[in-house]
Amino acid sequence: MSTIPSNLPLRNDLIGEEPYGAPQLDVPVCLNVNENPYAPDPAVCDTIAKRVREIAPTLNRYPDREHIELRKAFSDYLARESGTRLDVDELWGANGSNEIMLQLFQAFGGPGRTALGADPTYSMYPEYARDTFTGWKLAHRNPDFTLNVEKVIEAINEVKPSMVLLTSPNNPTGTPLPMEDIERILAACETAEVAGAGEGVHPILVIDEAYVEFRKPGTPSAVSLIKDHPNLAVSRTMSKAFAFAGARVGYLAANKGIIDCVRIVRMPYHLSAVTQAAALAAFEHTDEQLSRVEHLRETREATAAWLKQQTYKGQPLEVAESGSNFLLFGGHFDKRDAIFDELLKRGVLIRVVGPDGWLRVCMGTDEEMETFRNALAEVLRIVE
Ligand code: PMP
Repeated sequence: MSTIPSNLPLRNDLIGEEPYGAPQLDVPVCLNVNENPYAPDPAVCDTIAKRVREIAPTLNRYPDREHIELRKAFSDYLARESGTRLDVDELWGANGSNEIMLQLFQAFGGPGRTALGADPTYSMYPEYARDTFTGWKLAHRNPDFTLNVEKVIEAINEVKPSMVLLTSPNNPTGTPLPMEDIERILAACETAEVAGAGEGVHPILVIDEAYVEFRKPGTPSAVSLIKDHPNLAVSRTMSKAFAFAGARVGYLAANKGIIDCVRIVRMPYHLSAVTQAAALAAFEHTDEQLSRVEHLRETREATAAWLKQQTYKGQPLEVAESGSNFLLFGGHFDKRDAIFDELLKRGVLIRVVGPDGWLRVCMGTDEEMETFRNALAEVLRIVE
């Protein structure tokens, strides 16, 4: 039920819309928004407090609008994480990769423009499209949730989008996106037209790598393609593997041209001095912040194996292949809301998201996963 008074001049296209977001409930086991369940070590907390204390006397002044120190830290981090060294002017930060995405839509979308995604995919993309008056079109994935590259390329040529958005690995399915697929789609973008734009203008390809640190070790990141592809933008975040969701820091890696386009639409001083100091402090402790990633990967593999052994109405559960810190499972849950509710009654919050018949769970601590397994085993027996 909308609580918005009807005498307010809300934009016509927003009338009846609801604020979007996963339920934030106070329950013992929260496995619903793909966070890293491990809190920062006390040493990290101390550095954050120290660095914020150091800049506190400057808080009467606006922060560095260009957040140069932080962009250097993104460069160092990516060099270490993906093996690619980017320049400061090939990097850009914002309040979560949510804001990065919105800025990309503001710069490259707009009236008369269309963005293309591949569903099922991250549910915020259509919201950014709506908020920037950008059209939103989809090329459907294969039944196993891998990308149907031919269909995506066909859609690029048909829709003539200004932006193509692919999630690597995908959310909510967890599906890895092979580099060959990215390269083929990138090649298609590099010659495709953009509806309503002049000759020689081509779509940008946005790869959303929010969960990429959870990929199979040794596999490359799309960041490695940036130097050779001026139409490629890779979005990253400190919210997931880096265990820093509360600080709200995301970043964009792309050719300087794309970064300069985004700089046109950013709010002045969009990244507070406190955010910048906290993020720099966390980067001083990159090893500690990432120390649980390997364990979370193992938890994912063990949980996937366990889920496949469970049955619902006599049929084993399906589990989508995941390169992320969450699993989409079920496949034939005819009452997924009831399963969700029963888990919640047992103190376990997961997410009803993705295609009918499936549920998503993100990896928690060992204790949380044990509670999840016990609760689910019981629920699968009682939901008829
Ligand atoms: N992209 C994807 C695919 C996500 O799942 C999320 C968070 N759920 C985000 C971007 C945004 O994350 P953040 O704003 O915390 O960086």
